[in-house]
Amino acid sequence: MPASGYRSTYVTPHILGAGGHFYDEAENPFLGRDLEYFSKAGFDMEKIHLRHNAPVSQLYEEAIRNEGAVISSSGALINFSGKKTGRSPKDKRIVYEETSRDNIWWGPVNIKLDEHTFEINRERAIDYLNTREFVYVFDGFAGWDPKYRIKVRVICARAYHALFMNNMLIRPTPEELENFGEPDFVIYNAGQFPANRLTYGMTSTTSVEINFKRMEMVILGTEYAGEMKKGVFSVMHYLQPVKFGHLSLHSSANVGKEKEDVTLFFGLSGTGKTTLSADPHRDLIGDDEHVWSDTGVFNIEGGCYAKTIDLSAEKEPEIFNAIRFGSILENVVYHPLSRVPDYNDVTITENTRCAYPIEYIPNARIPCLSERHPTNIIMLTCDAFGVLPPVSKLSPEQASYHFLAGYTSKTPGTEDGVLEPVPTFSTCYSAPFIVLHPNHYATMLADRMKATNAHCWLVNTGWVGGKYGRGSRCPLKHTRAIIDAIHSGELAQSTDYTTFPVFGLQIPTKVSRVPDEILDPRRAWNNDAGFEKELRKLAGMFHKAFKMFETNVDEKIMLAGPTL
Ligand code: ATP
Ligand code: MN
Repeated sequence: MPASGYRSTYVTPHILGAGGHFYDEAENPFLGRDLEYFSKAGFDMEKIHLRHNAPVSQLYEEAIRNEGAVISSSGALINFSGKKTGRSPKDKRIVYEETSRDNIWWGPVNIKLDEHTFEINRERAIDYLNTREFVYVFDGFAGWDPKYRIKVRVICARAYHALFMNNMLIRPTPEELENFGEPDFVIYNAGQFPANRLTYGMTSTTSVEINFKRMEMVILGTEYAGEMKKGVFSVMHYLQPVKFGHLSLHSSANVGKEKEDVTLFFGLSGTGKTTLSADPHRDLIGDDEHVWSDTGVFNIEGGCYAKTIDLSAEKEPEIFNAIRFGSILENVVYHPLSRVPDYNDVTITENTRCAYPIEYIPNARIPCLSERHPTNIIMLTCDAFGVLPPVSKLSPEQASYHFLAGYTSKTPGTEDGVLEPVPTFSTCYSAPFIVLHPNHYATMLADRMKATNAHCWLVNTGWVGGKYGRGSRCPLKHTRAIIDAIHSGELAQSTDYTTFPVFGLQIPTKVSRVPDEILDPRRAWNNDAGFEKELRKLAGMFHKAFKMFETNVDEKIMLAGPTL
């Protein structure tokens, strides 16, 4: 027994009852300023309990107690996002207001919303949050370059959402938190509560909306955590070019340990940005969102958001081992007794994910930036038609063409028996998140590539030897060998290239540790007529998709596309 007068600094359940210890108002280090800020923002501070940058352990405890979360066998928190297990692009809106309206690329990607409706929804979100016992606040940064970062505040009702943004934003030091001040951008996440479909401008019970004048985002009717991270991305896609003339990128980035050469990997969802940027021979700058500034490349985020479908320790050890205490597994099925996640189980969704702080990847470069301009730019595509070569070299015009076209494909659903892949053209490899007209980003990329003489490669991580149903996905080890050959300089130095018909791409005839026969799709198919048919079909799809740029784009770029 401790001597009398002894006071443990630890809290024992014995003193507090079985519920354990939770910090509350009295222990909120920001109590005074929170009272003022949140009262002014419309929060009922007499009723709600604020958790402001709460410790990870506490977010675990409350997510388990109140939200049905469990701890996985490796210590990650397994959470569920409810009905929505992916983004809702059709419900994403931007407020039409005078400070930003002339800059924005209005249309189906950036749907107009009037200011009044935004205010109705904002109030609805705050009203909902006021009905909760606990409201979580997380303050963090977006952008690793201190000159260009923004301060983001997330206000939400689920511990899971707070922990997600704790992992995905850049975590402030205690001093930075102390001096945080007013945020530059605020996310009100009331995702458990629906939008009112009868509100003018709403088309469903989901609405994800950004107001650049108020610098606020409101989320109703979806609990998919990825909406918040992509909301921050939209803000950077707007602010960085408009305010600083920087190019925001939907890409991953890594850097050579000795040569310090930077590589960007562009690509749509599922093409391999996260998988291929986690490379034991190189340092990871980031897996999804970057900015190419005037002085180099910096990551926007403080964490990674990896797909976990079919994840294995053998093929992707860095990601597998990042799934531990503090990480969030989203919508992953687990064994009820052992709590071992089953990454092959797609009962809830194919889009199972893990969000972890970037320092959980052993060779993360911290701070996540480089003061070099990129040496290599890799455009990733997952071509389920099996037409595009596993690697080809692009001219500057071809680079602009493929960047604007933004091609990848989805594999067909298994249940309907249809084997036809679904092509996706998403301009700038980023259509759902870009805010300005695509030409704006494309011109900046071309100018930067010209100024820095960056090499550009198109890498197909999709099908080889036939289309989906006949061929198979390019083995990850071959794609990794291709990436290694880009980094070693082998491909840039080689003069052994042949021209790929119709698309006019340069294909290397040899790549170390890759079988020659897969490099040329015609050879890999072993069925000339079948290959020719798919080649022309895909070229036709590119033509159709590129039509929207025909009036705006330099003729040289037009001509760099496939010719039929
Ligand atoms: P998002 O934008 O949604 O985060 P992403 O581009 O980061 O998508 P990844 O998370 O890297 O995509 O997903 C690629 C998936 O494809 C992984 O599950 C990976 O295991 C699998 N895969 C299979 N073969 C390959 C290959 N040859 N190259 C890259 N990835 C492959
Ligand atoms: Mn990713």
